[in-house]
Amino acid sequence: MDCIFCKIVNGELPSKKLFENDVVVAFHDINPAAPVHVVIIPKKHIASMNDVEDEDWPIIAEMNRAAQVVARELGIAESGYRTANNCGKNGGQEVFHLHNHLLGGAKLKPLASV
Ligand code: 5GP
Ligand code: ZN
Repeated sequence: MDCIFCKIVNGELPSKKLFENDVVVAFHDINPAAPVHVVIIPKKHIASMNDVEDEDWPIIAEMNRAAQVVARELGIAESGYRTANNCGKNGGQEVFHLHNHLLGGAKLKPLASV
């Protein structure tokens, strides 16, 4: 499958990894939108939030747990951060392998409105 995040999972593409376990990987975003911008993905290829199946919900919990751990390790836990999931065209999703963004290191702008 031609999926860049699957290639990051299996090592075909390099990434600056911050956290990895059996279920998820977290790495620095290649085009950061904030001083801290981390991408957190499941190792399993799930295209988007729309494709999460009942058996996958523990993976979503693990993605959130990784965000908490990485935020602490990068020193932004106390100052605060945002996690975000873009789903589909209107959500601005560009990579169709499920991922959460972890953003912080500065005061973030309010969420975009239409
Ligand atoms: P989306 O718009 O799909 O929610 O976010 C995809 C994110 O993945 C973007 O922030 C983009 O900069 C990041 N990204 C895309 N390709 C790569 C890559 O090859 N390596 C890394 N580290 N990040 C990537
Ligand atoms: Zn994938």
